[in-house]
Amino acid sequence: MAVRTPVRAKTKKRTKAKAQTATKSRRRTSRKLSADVAKLRDWLLQERERLSVELQEIERRSARLDESDRATELSAYEDHPADLASETFEREKDLAIGESVQGMLNKVNTALEKTELGTYGTCDACGRPIKKARLKALPFATLCLNCQDRLER
Ligand SMILES: [Zn+2]
Repeated sequence: MAVRTPVRAKTKKRTKAKAQTATKSRRRTSRKLSADVAKLRDWLLQERERLSVELQEIERRSARLDESDRATELSAYEDHPADLASETFEREKDLAIGESVQGMLNKVNTALEKTELGTYGTCDACGRPIKKARLKALPFATLCLNCQDRLER
C-alpha cells in the first residue's frame, strides 16, 4: 500500500500538468498553426524524398543513353534516322523533366528552410501571411496569392 500511494500521486500531478499545457496552447493561437506547419513539413519531407529518387532515376537513364551512344558511335546512325530522332526526343524529354523536378525540389527545399527559420507561411515578397488554403494546396508556396499574381503578370 505504501508503494501504491506515491504512484497515484504522481499520475495526478501529470494530469494536472497536461491540463495546464492545454490551457496555454488555447491561449496562444500560434500553437495551432505549428501543428499545421508540422503536417505540411512532413509532406514536404516526403516530397523531397520522392523528387530526389525521381531525379536519380532520370540521371541514371541519361547516363545509360550516353553509354549506348558510345557503343553505337561506329555503327552509322544514318541507317536509322528514326532511332536517332526518338533518342534525341527521349533525351530532350529527360532534360525537361529533370529541370522541372530539380525546380520543384528547389521549391520544396526553400519551403523546408522556411519551416526551420520560422518564416514558413509568410510571403517572401510582402511579409504577410499566406492563406492556409493556399499552403494546403501548394505547401511549397513562398509567395501569397497577390504577390504570385503580380509576378506572373
Ligand atoms: Zn505577398
